[in-house]
Amino acid sequence: MFDAVMIEKTETGQSVSLRQVMKDELPDGDVLVKVEWSTLNYKDALAITGKGPIVKSWPMVPGIDFSGTVVESRTPDFRPGDKVLLNGWGVGEKHWGGLAGLARVSGEWLTPLPAAFSTRQAMILGTAGYTSMLCVMALEHAGVQPSGGPVLVTGASGGVGSIAVMLLSELGYETVAVTGRMAEKDYLESIGASRVIDREPFTHKGRPLEKAEWAGAVDVVGGQVLASVCAAIRPRGAVVACGLAGGMDLPLTVAPFILRGVSLLGIDSVLCPREERREAWNRLAALIDVTRLENVVSEYPLSKAIEAAHALMDGRTHGRILIRVSE
Ligand code: NAP
Repeated sequence: MFDAVMIEKTETGQSVSLRQVMKDELPDGDVLVKVEWSTLNYKDALAITGKGPIVKSWPMVPGIDFSGTVVESRTPDFRPGDKVLLNGWGVGEKHWGGLAGLARVSGEWLTPLPAAFSTRQAMILGTAGYTSMLCVMALEHAGVQPSGGPVLVTGASGGVGSIAVMLLSELGYETVAVTGRMAEKDYLESIGASRVIDREPFTHKGRPLEKAEWAGAVDVVGGQVLASVCAAIRPRGAVVACGLAGGMDLPLTVAPFILRGVSLLGIDSVLCPREERREAWNRLAALIDVTRLENVVSEYPLSKAIEAAHALMDGRTHGRILIRVSE
């Protein structure tokens, strides 16, 4: 028996509780993992509080990412004792996820833990860190170089944004952080932002083309902010869109694309191919000093995960939320 956060469908909606689960209740999969750490992402909080349609199959153990140790394996790719991590693949949405003592998953979904990280450190980065790395890799593939000029990161004080700031500055880019919380200026500069600018001017509809200032951008906000960013990208620059913290719409004209050759690139961390994710994790291990994120980590035991999800939804949390499942 092991503890699991369990979301169950009820006549009026859903209920969520911490309950004891038997190993043979776990879904199919060729690898059994003892979960050590998980995290709470916005998506997990939506699932646990029932405020968003995240759960696709019932009952569901939430938790879109986890790290731990292989206990049993029917695939030659992993052996008992191997340290592994998992992000996405519909885990915590369609397949039982990381907020439980054990997880049984497909070996295809697991990434070997980079040697530079402990299982806890990997989850400090979690899906947010891995997604940031995918964003930076997309900019690089599009030819955006540190010598090309300054790059923007929107939603910079959030999970994805703050790690994107760290990565880009580490790679030598002049990194400009856009935030709605200018009180975070010192923090953003401490993690590598060369400048911090207010989000407010980006929230107003401007001209189809603005002054071409930025060589590239990582955007987690969407909506008008993403449209404003696209209008101010230098010729042949690129913008990576990975989030919708500010909205789903994109009130944009085609001018940046057809008059400046700007590229708009999408990031999907959930179904990202295996090789690309391994590359992202290995590059994170080479580039990030995780200890610099310790001061934005809050840690909860599994028994407090439901409480923490409500706090996240109510805007009462800050930074990365780690869930200690077992050590
Ligand atoms: P987060 O920690 O909540 O950060 C989002 C940041 O966006 C906030 O810190 C805030 O930054 C800014 N923001 C929040 N509300 C806003 C609003 N109404 N208008 C403008 N800016 C706003 O979330 P996260 O984990 O970094 O995730 C960011 C986004 O990426 C989410 O939409 C998430 O769903 C998405 N995501 C996508 C993928 C993928 O595979 N594509 C993977 C992970 C996450 P400031 O206060 O600094 O402005």
